[in-house]
Amino acid sequence: MILADILLIWYKKNKRNLPWRNTKNPYHIWISEVILQQTRITQGLGYYLDFINTFPDIQSLALAEEEHVLKTWQGLGYYSRARNLHFAAKQIVNEHNGIFPKEYTKILKLKGIGEYSAGAIASISFNLPFSAIDGNVLRVISRLYGIEDPINSNEGKIKIKSIVNELIDKSNPGDFNQSFIELGALICKPQNPDCDICPIKEFCFAFLNQKQKDFPQKNKLKKPKNRYFYYIVINLNNTNTFISKREKNDIWKNLYDFPQIETKEEIKDDNILIEKIKNIIITDTFIINKIHLPVKHQLTHQTLYSTFIEVSIDENIIINNTIKIQLSQINKYPFPKLIENFIFNKIISH
Ligand code: SF4
Repeated sequence: MILADILLIWYKKNKRNLPWRNTKNPYHIWISEVILQQTRITQGLGYYLDFINTFPDIQSLALAEEEHVLKTWQGLGYYSRARNLHFAAKQIVNEHNGIFPKEYTKILKLKGIGEYSAGAIASISFNLPFSAIDGNVLRVISRLYGIEDPINSNEGKIKIKSIVNELIDKSNPGDFNQSFIELGALICKPQNPDCDICPIKEFCFAFLNQKQKDFPQKNKLKKPKNRYFYYIVINLNNTNTFISKREKNDIWKNLYDFPQIETKEEIKDDNILIEKIKNIIITDTFIINKIHLPVKHQLTHQTLYSTFIEVSIDENIIINNTIKIQLSQINKYPFPKLIENFIFNKIISH
């Protein structure tokens, strides 16, 4: 029996029962693929169900306010993916009469859909013979064939893609793609792969040569850059606060946070910090109630250190580029996870 057939039999017996595995609806497959690109299945499942429940079809997503989409996505991170989903839903309504396109090249033209997602949707929903190569597939193929090119290099990716294209089961490309992804998630894990129970071990270069630790090879990524945020959390009589919308092309675009100071280095001198706070709230009369310990938050290419500073000020003050909201309404706005955690732990629960 050939490798792809053995893997398919294993997949049918061992695949996890997940809602997007029981459908060919391209909208559902699309949402699941975008959510799972960044999240573990246990966390992603709740978001998937919530998202589908809130926006049950392409039309409802296209018609939604962006803030509603971001609020539903809140906590998942990579907010550009939610904005792209929203944009692409409008593209489908405007350019394809609201019907998900069935051709690979047209799927690939939708905003935010790259080769992986296009391949997954085309193969699972429309039975088209396109590969869907995610990190799991890169790792499995690299071990299986002893690919020495780094899997995050163009050479490595091209080599692996051509191998998958040779192997792909044209009669059942959706299950073929998912079987490799599932093997990578359940058996051929990044650390300590379970080779003893692997259904394709007899084909595997890394296993036969006991070189599992040597694959996959990866180029070292650039060191993430540090950013220091100082959030000014104004508490007006336990009733109101100020928040601002992040409108620049930066992380968390169109989400909200508190008025803030950003620096490239940590501010170690309190006098400098106080001067900077004055520049934001444009008054000398304020009281710093508490400076919280910095919270470290790791993004893919950035390390954020965020310090929340609780400040009391005069009731009538206006702060540029912010909106004054009632604390009781704070849950209506989409916030990055980091800010949401602070709001929940320090504001709402008190
Ligand atoms: S034998 Fe081991 S290294 Fe090879 S594909 Fe299976 S789990 Fe991965």
